[in-house]
Amino acid sequence: MNRQKIWLSSPHMGGTEQKYVQEAFDTNWVAPLGPNVNGFENDLKKYLGNKNEVAALSAGTGALHLALILAGVKRDDTVICQSFTFAASANPITYLSARPVFVDSEKDTWNMDPELLETAIIAETKKGKKPKAIVVVHLYGMPAKMDEISAIAQKYDIPVIEDAAEALGSAYKGHKCGTLGDYGILSFNGNKIITTSGGGALVTQTIEDKQKAVFLATQARDDAPHYQHSQIGYNYRMSNIVAGIGRGQMEVLDDRVKARRANFDFYQKELGGWGFEFLPEPENVFANRWLTTILTDAYETREKIRLALAKENIESRPLWKPMHLQPVFSNEIAYTNGISEDLFNRGLCLPSGSNLTDADRERIVKVFSTLFGKYFI
Ligand SMILES: *Cc1c(COP(=O)(O)O)cnc(C)c1O
Repeated sequence: MNRQKIWLSSPHMGGTEQKYVQEAFDTNWVAPLGPNVNGFENDLKKYLGNKNEVAALSAGTGALHLALILAGVKRDDTVICQSFTFAASANPITYLSARPVFVDSEKDTWNMDPELLETAIIAETKKGKKPKAIVVVHLYGMPAKMDEISAIAQKYDIPVIEDAAEALGSAYKGHKCGTLGDYGILSFNGNKIITTSGGGALVTQTIEDKQKAVFLATQARDDAPHYQHSQIGYNYRMSNIVAGIGRGQMEVLDDRVKARRANFDFYQKELGGWGFEFLPEPENVFANRWLTTILTDAYETREKIRLALAKENIESRPLWKPMHLQPVFSNEIAYTNGISEDLFNRGLCLPSGSNLTDADRERIVKVFSTLFGKYFI
């Protein structure tokens, strides 16, 4: 096995990143503030439609932590969280000594089921614990059913935190993901659609919320000549070096979205004949197709494909294991319907990098034709 590894989703630099990093060195802005941080925030703000405020942070996970604080989540509160997601959506709830209440997915987008969300809110409120926030995720870049979710959130007056870590570039009814909730979070981790090596951002509706987030992200220093603190702060601000990479990546974001969507189209065309299910894009929705996923007929088929790809040095991965099935969350309350568990059992993420070559794609499809034989349309 001497062939080069094909990764699930690897960094893809555009070429101008180092120019911004060099500028940071040349001007000695080697700090968690500076022109690249402001520039990257402005680029993101513009990209998202110029109506929101953006705070650049050290990680999407930190952005979620701050969003929960801004939403007023405190010790022993409960927070509703989509179960079908990466653990980083839920972990920050526990940083605040609050408890997650997990809600399962619906079949159309694989994201939070609005009906089950309402069931959960009613049941938890009856127990005397009205949830303090809702964390909804646009998994794999597919927007959740935001109209339904927002309507329920409004009905019960609960703030929505939109985990758009995987959905930069996706849009719902003409609005960019990350701007649809009371707070949105983005991630620029190494495997995301654009990367700063590591990093994240909090998207807010108001400048006041952004200022509060930046205050908390820079150790919550009071306005005084000495170091004075009236509340607990965090060290979550983005470095000016990292932000330089982000500015370069913003120049190619639209190309990256195009390339990921082309991967999806390619897989659907080449593999569709074997009967795998692909997640369709609902009307009025634009998905960045961060990762292309397929649903097989059974767990055994999924594993057969995954192992055959691994043998050819090709990385693929089962879909996210739902939070209500994770050992660390086994004592938490969950409202389930079996959908995310079924997706986890039968689904597979295929290599989806924007830097995949035609030769890479051919190698991947060849594994399938070796396993399943040729088909003719
Ligand atoms: C990547 C990711 C995060 C966390 O972002 P980091 O920048 O890695 O901290 C949160 N939620 C989801 C759904 C993610 O995929």
